[in-house]
Amino acid sequence: MRDIREFFLGIWHLLQGMYVVMLNFIRPKVTEQYPENRGKVFPAERMRGELVMPHNEANQHKCTACGICEINCPNGTIQVISKKEVDGATGKEKKVLDRYLYDVGSCTFCSVCTISCPQDAIEWSRNFEHAMFTRAKLVQRLNKEGSSLAKKEKVEKES
Ligand code: SF4
Ligand code: SF4
Repeated sequence: MRDIREFFLGIWHLLQGMYVVMLNFIRPKVTEQYPENRGKVFPAERMRGELVMPHNEANQHKCTACGICEINCPNGTIQVISKKEVDGATGKEKKVLDRYLYDVGSCTFCSVCTISCPQDAIEWSRNFEHAMFTRAKLVQRLNKEGSSLAKKEKVEKES
């Protein structure tokens, strides 16, 4: 008697499984055909693809080379390399950004760097295609060649 009950129970479970299979067979497909649909994939706004340093049309960025992001990064993913330059207006030496290096291969995308940056000089882009043949190519320079520090716009106080 027990064997007959288990036999019909098995058939019932088999039919339940077949029902789910048939249901998904006729449902519209939601799987992304990547990379065939490259250019049509739009990741969410908040996606952390890779770190970038925005530059304005005059090739200026907001990084003061303070190194706070480098100190706070838990993985040593960032290297802020600075140099000294003589300020034309004051004649004094000042520290400026030479190269900002970011190794996407060791980044955990925790965003501690962007949160701790006092200048909002770095942010996330949604580019997620990082595949390379060598690890060395994962190290990117974020400040563009010949770029400089953007002057801060003075906020005029209302009298
Ligand atoms: S997201 Fe995190 S791991 Fe990546 S560079 Fe910023 S602080 Fe470092
Ligand atoms: S990105 Fe921000 S925190 Fe990092 S060195 Fe530049 S100004 Fe400082």
